[in-house]
Amino acid sequence: MEVERGINMEKEICILPNQVDEHGIFLCPKCKTELSPDDYDETAYTMLEPIMAKNELGALLTQCNNCSSKIKIMVQEALIDEAVNQAYAIYEETSD
Ligand SMILES: [Zn+2]
Repeated sequence: MEVERGINMEKEICILPNQVDEHGIFLCPKCKTELSPDDYDETAYTMLEPIMAKNELGALLTQCNNCSSKIKIMVQEALIDEAVNQAYAIYEETSD
């Protein structure tokens, strides 16, 4: 799938591994829709592309189909540091 790099970058919202539960379910940071990897029909969200880092899965780029937000699920710690350095929008939960 073609991705418009550079244009969409700033719209990506990063979520951290601890914001994904043990079943891989997470909430869209924007519209709070529950997104589950078991949603094979991709009605709630679309898996856009895996982002590789050093031959390992570094992050997963997904898109919420409800609000069209692009959400990057961080997998590798190295990439998380990079994301923070590049001042990506890191989704921060207000409650614990
Ligand atoms: Zn959403």
